[in-house]
Amino acid sequence: MPVDVLAIAAHADDIELTCAGTLVQLKARGRRFGIVDLTGGEMGTRGDVATRQLEARRAAQILGAEFRETLDFGDGGLVASRANELVLIDLIRRERPRLVLTSYPDDRHPDHRRAGELVTDAAYYAGLRKLATAHPAHRPQQTIYFSSAYVHPPTFVVDVTAAMEKRNAAIRSYGSQFHDPESRQPQTILSQESFLAMVEARARHFGFLIGTEFGEGFVSKRPPRIDDPIAAFEGMEPGF
Ligand SMILES: [Zn+2]
Repeated sequence: MPVDVLAIAAHADDIELTCAGTLVQLKARGRRFGIVDLTGGEMGTRGDVATRQLEARRAAQILGAEFRETLDFGDGGLVASRANELVLIDLIRRERPRLVLTSYPDDRHPDHRRAGELVTDAAYYAGLRKLATAHPAHRPQQTIYFSSAYVHPPTFVVDVTAAMEKRNAAIRSYGSQFHDPESRQPQTILSQESFLAMVEARARHFGFLIGTEFGEGFVSKRPPRIDDPIAAFEGMEPGF
């Protein structure tokens, strides 16, 4: 059975920090989604691959993913080779998503940038009938992007207010990465309490733009079709 959405990022936790609320909202509407991590997170300062796998699996359960798969494209030097591209092309064909979510291909972390480019290209190539892999050709309708360190003006914002509890629980499942007063591992930017406050503040800011408590912003190379522009702005702070 195909998924409606495939969320693909370099590292486990990239999805949780950026677009997990949207996945939860889609699930509540009966949509199915899967998560693909392109690397095992072996370069992380804190935790190890086994711990991060467990954390990622728990987060996926909290969000309600149909599956979560980890590939081995190389953390801290993600390799956008043709071989890796073909692995991704076949995975997209296998799951037949209508929408692909990935990192905006411009970010501070080169893995995020490379992941965004690789996923964009693979989603396109997946539609080429004469390119043979194990599964038949399938091209997703649209690839949309979330921002990590660098913020990009969103093409649209999703109201995720009702999903924040699950989103926060999924983020908290990454005990090895984020703030944990009990942890004796080296402190990083990510492990400071202020990091999670920043992540939530960003969701508040996106929410502010659309008149809700929390939102997640996305960039799309073409704008979504809106049937009723009046309804689309209804209830927001007037005068913007
Ligand atoms: Zn990352």
